[in-house]
Amino acid sequence: MIRLHLALALAVVTGPAFAQGAPLPADVTTNAAIRAALEHIRSDNAWTVDQQVSICEIPAPPFKEERRAAEMKRRFEALGLRVTVDSIGNVIAERPGSGGGPVVVLAAHLDTVFPEETDVRVRRQGTLLSGPGIGDDCRGLAVLLAVAKAMNAASVRTQGTIFFVANVGEEGPGNLRGVKHLFAKPPARIDYFISVDGTGLGLTDAAVGSNRYRVSFRGPGGHSYGAFGMPSPIHALGRAIAKISEIQVPRTPKTTFNVGIIEGGTSVNTISPLGAMEVDLRSESPEELAKVDAQFRRAVDAALAEENARWPSSRVKVTVDVESMGVRPAAAPPDTQRIIRTAKAAARALGFDAPGGASSTDANWPMSLGIQAITLDGGGEGRGAHSVTESYDDGDKGWLGPQWSLLVVSMLAGVR
Ligand SMILES: [Zn+2]
Repeated sequence: MIRLHLALALAVVTGPAFAQGAPLPADVTTNAAIRAALEHIRSDNAWTVDQQVSICEIPAPPFKEERRAAEMKRRFEALGLRVTVDSIGNVIAERPGSGGGPVVVLAAHLDTVFPEETDVRVRRQGTLLSGPGIGDDCRGLAVLLAVAKAMNAASVRTQGTIFFVANVGEEGPGNLRGVKHLFAKPPARIDYFISVDGTGLGLTDAAVGSNRYRVSFRGPGGHSYGAFGMPSPIHALGRAIAKISEIQVPRTPKTTFNVGIIEGGTSVNTISPLGAMEVDLRSESPEELAKVDAQFRRAVDAALAEENARWPSSRVKVTVDVESMGVRPAAAPPDTQRIIRTAKAAARALGFDAPGGASSTDANWPMSLGIQAITLDGGGEGRGAHSVTESYDDGDKGWLGPQWSLLVVSMLAGVR
């Protein structure tokens, strides 16, 4: 049986209070406290990098983020923030505003893609750091701490309250459970959501949608010689993969497919009872995502029919089950949104351009709810995300990442 899942294309609407089109505040970089906070980030860069390394040496596999979460809680508290941990495991540190301003969340995810036994020690060679998760998203967690520390050191006063959130469940299997929970049970009504995820100085202002599936072909299996003549789940899987690999997708809007994991088989001379795969489909466009999704399902159906038809006299048949592993909605908010214009203006104030692009991050969820949301890179230069050879180079301007986050948060919350 094939269960259908459609990506939802939700209309993007903006809240009335701090709507798009409202003028941006005067250049806050002329504010003395903001200038001092930016300078603090630069001069205290070694502290930020130390945070990044030490937090990363605490394992945080999917669904096992507790130890790293407890340490983030301790560090936020050491910076004088009031910290709670919500029922799903998000660490929420509050920096109260003076009142009347919007509520801004600056978030980074705790979880990695690496299993528990992975060696997470970080090697340092000058500004180059190597270790699983060092960029994605230990950099983001370090940026949160750096921004909170600098705002306190420079006594930045904002009108709106800022919540620093170290959230669970961003990576694949987590299926955004941390941010979904945050928006289902928010500490306060959230006006702006910023995720710090990834490295470089890029801005994500649109959400790549994704559909992920686990496809399981099943049959009774049997001896490769004695039971020969029955359809094979692994052969059916092979047919499906061959068809998926021939799917044609547009270059723009970027649309992709990938069979990322295959599984099955017990021995060389056994017709396997199982042939399974995990498939990831993505697009910037909800329509194209729906199209590639339909092609994928046709490929699975056809593979099943062909494998069973190959052995017409067999009494047993192969069956297939397609289970959803996660749906992330696509969204393309208008670039007139205040949060997008603020991120670009803050980048210009720091001397670089951030044109914006689409990606798949925690910001997908609030974007799909119509809440203004972006993802900011954390600075530096990353390589090999999601691999054990991942590295992060802080270079000579890594501090630009936390400076950018600080400026965007301050501009949105309103500086007194
Ligand atoms: Zn990430």
